[in-house]
Amino acid sequence: MSNIILETRNLTKIYNLEQENEFEALHGIDFKAEAGEFICVMGPSGSGKTTFINNISTVDFPTKGQVLIDGAEIRSMSANEIGRFRSRNLGFVFQEFNLLNTHTLYENIAMPLALARTGKQEMNRRVEAVAKKMKIESILHKYPRECSGGQRQRGAICRALIMNPKIIIADEPTGNLDRANSNEFLEMIDGLNREQKVTVIMVTHDPLVASYSSRLVYIKDGVIEQSLDRGQMDRKEYFEKITEINASESRGFLR
Ligand code: ADP
Repeated sequence: MSNIILETRNLTKIYNLEQENEFEALHGIDFKAEAGEFICVMGPSGSGKTTFINNISTVDFPTKGQVLIDGAEIRSMSANEIGRFRSRNLGFVFQEFNLLNTHTLYENIAMPLALARTGKQEMNRRVEAVAKKMKIESILHKYPRECSGGQRQRGAICRALIMNPKIIIADEPTGNLDRANSNEFLEMIDGLNREQKVTVIMVTHDPLVASYSSRLVYIKDGVIEQSLDRGQMDRKEYFEKITEINASESRGFLR
């Protein structure tokens, strides 16, 4: 039995609707993610990846079509309902980490709990548990500027995980990390995906990063041009297929 956690039906996004500079960035995308998948979104710059991610994560809303998360139609909810729904179901990790510099790691991680009016004891328990998992329990008192890039990204993951989201949405999460930290980050995400069955949807331009996923979705000119299941491929074989898909795009510029 399939267990669809996220679905788009005819997802269409038009920027500057009915203005001179109207632009259709997504052309009626039909997409389904099953619970527990680890999906990577790739594609050339300007192809619509961020628009897609924003629309499936309630950050932005489609001009036409539907987005269903765990069966709920986002556009039928009020702004308050969307806010609650987002904090309960979705965890976000971005390239810039998006931690508040005026707050310690602890305060950053605890923020979604504070907004949900969680009691102090429960808050401590949960922040410490997630920080331990991500191996930053000894630096929770530090401010982001006192932490390394890798530590900040772990802090951002902790904040994304603190509400036990069903889906983690990540937009170029390794963009500011060196290879060692990037690999460590991916091992953590991979572990969460395998052990806790958290669904992951991640934009990246890096085939090595994408090779951790279980499915590649390749967006071009506002449509899903290709989809590649990892299936039984080992990481190396999958990586090579992903590289080939990206290279055939670049090759077009040689003509
Ligand atoms: P990607 O993430 O693949 O680089 P984007 O989703 O950011 O692509 O952008 C897709 C297309 O939509 C681009 O042509 C971009 O210029 C356009 N676009 C993105 N955001 C806006 C906006 N707020 N207003 C108008 N056009 C936009």
